Amino acid sequence: MAKSDLLRQLPAVHEVVKEISLEMNGKPEKEITRAVQEAVGYWRNNILSGSNTIDLNADLQKLIKETARKKLVSSYNQIRTVINASGVVIHTNLGRSRLSEKAVERMTQTAQMYSNLEYNLEKGKRGSRHDLTEELIKRVTGAEAAIVVNNNAAAVYLVLKALAKNKEVIVSRGELVEIGGSFRVSSIMEESGAILKEVGTTNKTHLADYEKAINENTGMFLKVHTSNFKIIGFTKGVSSSELMRLKKATPHVIMYEDLGSGALYPFQKGGIGEEPLISSVIKDGIDLVSFSGDKLLGGPQAGIIAGKKKYIDILKMHQLARVLRVDKFTIAALNETLTAYLNEDFLSIPTVRDILKTSDEIKIKVYTLMRKIEDEPHLSMNILEEFSQVGGGTMPDVQLPTYCLALKHEKGAAYLAKHFRDHEVPIIVRIKDDEVLLDLRTVTDDEEKILIEAINSVTA
Ligand SMILES: *Cc1c(COP(=O)(O)O)cnc(C)c1O
Repeated sequence: MAKSDLLRQLPAVHEVVKEISLEMNGKPEKEITRAVQEAVGYWRNNILSGSNTIDLNADLQKLIKETARKKLVSSYNQIRTVINASGVVIHTNLGRSRLSEKAVERMTQTAQMYSNLEYNLEKGKRGSRHDLTEELIKRVTGAEAAIVVNNNAAAVYLVLKALAKNKEVIVSRGELVEIGGSFRVSSIMEESGAILKEVGTTNKTHLADYEKAINENTGMFLKVHTSNFKIIGFTKGVSSSELMRLKKATPHVIMYEDLGSGALYPFQKGGIGEEPLISSVIKDGIDLVSFSGDKLLGGPQAGIIAGKKKYIDILKMHQLARVLRVDKFTIAALNETLTAYLNEDFLSIPTVRDILKTSDEIKIKVYTLMRKIEDEPHLSMNILEEFSQVGGGTMPDVQLPTYCLALKHEKGAAYLAKHFRDHEVPIIVRIKDDEVLLDLRTVTDDEEKILIEAINSVTA
């Protein structure tokens, strides 16, 4: 059949709408019409482009109905839950950290009921939302004071704007990082009105470089934790404690470090990475640090600024603090997460738990899973020793030993990966050497059941 014949066979929109309306009880006709129009458009383009995905004897009416139905029930443009079988624990594209059960519970309660968000229960009058988070942060970090804002990018912006506007901020050239393509230290600084003063070279910066750059208009030393890349080899940086010594002679200069992830759990002690503990950075006497709530900390999206009270007080008073403030759900989830650290209930925090999972634990999970998989002639499987990643731009050089279920399909890895993405609960996998790897480090027991369903529904 020629293109023109096929085009002539495209059904009229109103006919399809009439048929589908019966199935979609109650759905507004406007919505159904929109879906059918889109479906007709999709198949018209398909025919015009001459792509051979269309069978020349196809029942176009049926195809269009199917497409329209999918559009009506599908939630592609909705936020959907997915299963992260990629082994990247803090997967930025998949929502970074998942929250602990207690954090979720507290969020739900806070959503359903009124709360003391800005009400002092003791005094019976207006209170401040900052008070609800500050005490806990002080306790887990050892800082004098703290404030929480929307995310860590906002934290950096607020600190620069409130404390270094029109002043020179000295940064090592090796730390002028770009994170995820959207957060550039140099651009944030420009936006904030602070004046960037780069020192050193990409691979080497000495204390003397900072010393030489200081003048009466120097407002701040900024250190940026270059968590998402690592320059290896001939490098030299200046630690914040070295800078603290320099600061003694120039007390007007504020020492601020953007820690990026910031660890509250001593991963380094357990041999995982070199992320400093936030409390030890604070103990060294730094003026301010900031870090994300949803990276290594394992809480909700937030930017936490901790340090000297005199600076935090200025941040609290700044108009931007109001613009960048967090909502009650964030406070609820963050407080439960911080409480888990205080109680040393670390394994209740999914991000911490998943990073600490041993390869032996994961190996057992893979073998158990394999026993539940039915034979399918087009699919072969085996167990593979591999590495998971921390993710979120954190500890890029850390390889977490793991085991993966490796699946090979006649039609190739891309086909198989699409099958998993198309599952009712989409499953995100990793591909290597034309095999699909399922890394169970980031998969819970409940999610494994869904994984098994998806594997057992693979066909030729
Ligand atoms: C991730 C990161 C940020 C941005 O934090 P968000 O919470 O994503 O806004 C800023 N600085 C560093 C060093 C980071 O690693």
